[in-house]
Amino acid sequence: MASRCQCCSAIETIQHLFIDSPTADTVWRHFADIIHITLRPREGFQYRFQAWRFSGQFVSTGHIRTIIPLLILWFIWTARNDAKHRDIAMEPRRIIWRVYHTISLLHTGRLFRHIHWRGDMDIAPIFGVIITTPSHPPPTLVFWRTPPVGSYKINTDGCVKDRESDSTLAIHCITKGGGPWHIQATIRHIRHLLALDSDTITHIYREGNQVADLLASEGWDRRCYHEYSSQDLPRRHRSLVQIDRFGLPTVRGL
Ligand SMILES: [Zn+2]
Repeated sequence: MASRCQCCSAIETIQHLFIDSPTADTVWRHFADIIHITLRPREGFQYRFQAWRFSGQFVSTGHIRTIIPLLILWFIWTARNDAKHRDIAMEPRRIIWRVYHTISLLHTGRLFRHIHWRGDMDIAPIFGVIITTPSHPPPTLVFWRTPPVGSYKINTDGCVKDRESDSTLAIHCITKGGGPWHIQATIRHIRHLLALDSDTITHIYREGNQVADLLASEGWDRRCYHEYSSQDLPRRHRSLVQIDRFGLPTVRGL
């Protein structure tokens, strides 16, 4: 036997309860107006989901335009159950308030990230959400320093793309200790070799080690052994060597 809707005298169907009923319609309209989405009356709720998802340029999983429809459906459902089993009237205002409240809780629990509001930053304050853009450290000048007279400096760079943090970590393991147990024997051996000639190792940002960085990325592209002499060094490499020789800085973080 078909049951009667909890908000009006219509027959309760999924389509009526979640989309067409006056209660559902008021709730959907409230949020559609904020996000500037045009609702097509009586559309199936799968179509409505898709309409919200494709309404923004940057919508991905977890984006506010996918979360709001889910919350609307969930709180319509709980309001319907409250009306049916606890005799609490179905109020669009209460459903709307619960959607706001849950978004605010998700924000406080840090479950939203910057990308979840991408393209919709202007409406975030309506939900009590303050989005701070990730801050980048200011640019710094990086120099290649000439070694003291009587000593040599070997510039190296691993032939691995975009893994500067790995070399920082390796140097930390050698100079300060730590690192996984299975490389401890190797680390002890490196320390022993360094101590023999009182050698030191330091980390420098790739911007301050441009020649080695360029050679390393060339090695990555070629995947074969190649050696340059000072005569056949390409112009680009030569100009980077000159920058180091003259002690000119390069900028990191622009
Ligand atoms: Zn109804």
